[in-house]
Amino acid sequence: MAQLSPSEITKLARRLERAEFSVSELQKITAEHPQMDLQDAYDIQWAIRRNKASRGVRIVGMKLGLASEAAMRQHGIEQPIYGFLADYFERVADEPIDIENLIHPKVEPELGFILNKTLRGPNCQIADVLAATQYLVPALEIIDSRYQQFALDLRSTVADNSACARFVLGDRHPLKAAWDIPALGVALYQNDQLVANGSGAAVMGHPAASVAHLVNMLAERGEVLATGSLVLSGGMTAAVSVQPGDQIRAQFQILGDMQIQFHSR
Ligand code: MG
Repeated sequence: MAQLSPSEITKLARRLERAEFSVSELQKITAEHPQMDLQDAYDIQWAIRRNKASRGVRIVGMKLGLASEAAMRQHGIEQPIYGFLADYFERVADEPIDIENLIHPKVEPELGFILNKTLRGPNCQIADVLAATQYLVPALEIIDSRYQQFALDLRSTVADNSACARFVLGDRHPLKAAWDIPALGVALYQNDQLVANGSGAAVMGHPAASVAHLVNMLAERGEVLATGSLVLSGGMTAAVSVQPGDQIRAQFQILGDMQIQFHSR
């Protein structure tokens, strides 16, 4: 199934990490390796993850990408894509974000799930995810492709940790059974201008369905979603490009407001 050799996987994982650290753009991998398949792409992502972990980086959770119906249709996929969250990706809302370390960042509002049980696939369902969720947390994910022009090539993006770069969490809330999570709305403002509206339903109809897909995809690799994990379930709106000095505010129904500021140059 896999099309790339182990040494090519290793080399491409190093190249992507160098691009991250040097804040420089690469040509998308499929330009040089058109035969790369999705399994190779995840192999590269897992190699990057292992390299980081071997240097003492803690993996605190996972993220889903391309989880909207429109994005999945556009890319011809039936499941979202995933990436990992490393401890050093996290930023706090009251400190300006280091935009100088990002290539062409975009922001999207998301619902985060914090688990207090380990989830194992296959056959993980929405109800399993909700039963394992301790907290729901509003979040802003800052995505950044390490490729020229933010190339949204499915396989290249998966190799590039599904474009994850930074994330900021709002206040965590114990999950309440009465909440209609798909109906939870969000409004996104950039420098006080409303730029996007969305709701939980934009994420695979239900953000917990996105998490269930993640668990089932992990099972194909013999992996589980460990207790204590944070999962960013996918963008509730289209991602918004940001510039130095921008302020982004997200108003989440029930879960509260968040505001972040990017460094000016
Ligand atoms: Mg996202």
